[in-house]
Amino acid sequence: MALAVLSHIDVRPVEHRVSDAERAERMTNPGFGKVFTEHMVTVRYVEGKGWERGELKPYGPLLLDPAASVLHYGQAIFEGFKAYYQADGSVKTFRPFANAQRFNRSAERLAMPALPEEIFVEAADALIREDRAWVPAAIGESLYLRPLMIATEAALGVRPSKEYLFVLFASPAGAYFSGGVKPVTVWISEDYVRAAPGGTGFAKCAGNYAASLLAQKQAQAEGCDQVVWLDAIHRKYIEEMGGMNIFFVYQEGGRSVVVTPELTGSLLPGVTRLSILELARELGFGAEERKVTVDEWDAALKEGRMTEAFACGTAAVITPIGRVKSKAGEWLVNRGATGPVAEQLREALLNLQHGVTADTHGWMHDVC
Ligand SMILES: *Cc1c(COP(=O)(O)O)cnc(C)c1O
Repeated sequence: MALAVLSHIDVRPVEHRVSDAERAERMTNPGFGKVFTEHMVTVRYVEGKGWERGELKPYGPLLLDPAASVLHYGQAIFEGFKAYYQADGSVKTFRPFANAQRFNRSAERLAMPALPEEIFVEAADALIREDRAWVPAAIGESLYLRPLMIATEAALGVRPSKEYLFVLFASPAGAYFSGGVKPVTVWISEDYVRAAPGGTGFAKCAGNYAASLLAQKQAQAEGCDQVVWLDAIHRKYIEEMGGMNIFFVYQEGGRSVVVTPELTGSLLPGVTRLSILELARELGFGAEERKVTVDEWDAALKEGRMTEAFACGTAAVITPIGRVKSKAGEWLVNRGATGPVAEQLREALLNLQHGVTADTHGWMHDVC
């Protein structure tokens, strides 16, 4: 569904665009989240008046009052989804309405106002059309869209802000983890938890990430790439890996079954997670949501019932897990190599996102 008329956003592009040569230079090995396009969209909200008309304008710093409540009490949420260059030369985004819906579930949890889904998607469409030249063409590369909302009212009283700013900007993305899809080593965090029942685990809020950074530092000090989070109560059920959902591949009754931890409220409900559950069934694998403990992870591997583990998310798509380390010891998954199921799912997802295979789910959204 293309929105031909911009009904919510005024377009005021830069006067002088970056030259083709400079853009090509900046887009060479962009990594993740370091290079930004020439425009951004902002939409202001004022309690009692609602969302104002949005503005597409040159990318640049925001002006904030030092008393803006986001700087003190942390009402800040974000999203992440991608635009992909298609085999036919067009550009499409992957399931943007799913992100718009999750954005509003995050907003609700942080007592922030809902943003109409059509404004969320229109903002992205307008930005991508303006900065189309920044969408990388290679498979596995994409234009990453980063929508966010912050509380901007200058008020130090502890209560929900009465003013907010929605911002959306874009960043050309190569491979998320440097070094391509080589399997990662994970550290099982026993000292820290990411989220607890009744908390903000299901919301994509900035605070969740702030609280995760020390654990990530500890993982790196242990020689690992990423943290694996356990549930806050029993400290034994596996929840996520860093900022990604996690999957295990079992062999059951002669076929591969992908298993991901069930959503409990403390896990982030990933769009990639949901898409993989569907794609796995179509590829003839079993697909289940259920609890998996750390002990089960170790035991199932030793008994040959489990053959692979991988993490998934918009930014890095699918990242195999090759080695697991905890205070108790360490073990290898699939001898430390990428497994065939992770490989097959990654390829199926990327082919769908780039229009190499037909979109039978209605997941792709036409942009330009
Ligand atoms: C964003 C995120 C994910 C992945 O969600 P996708 O919609 O697949 O990108 C998983 N876990 C956490 C903690 C996240 O913030």
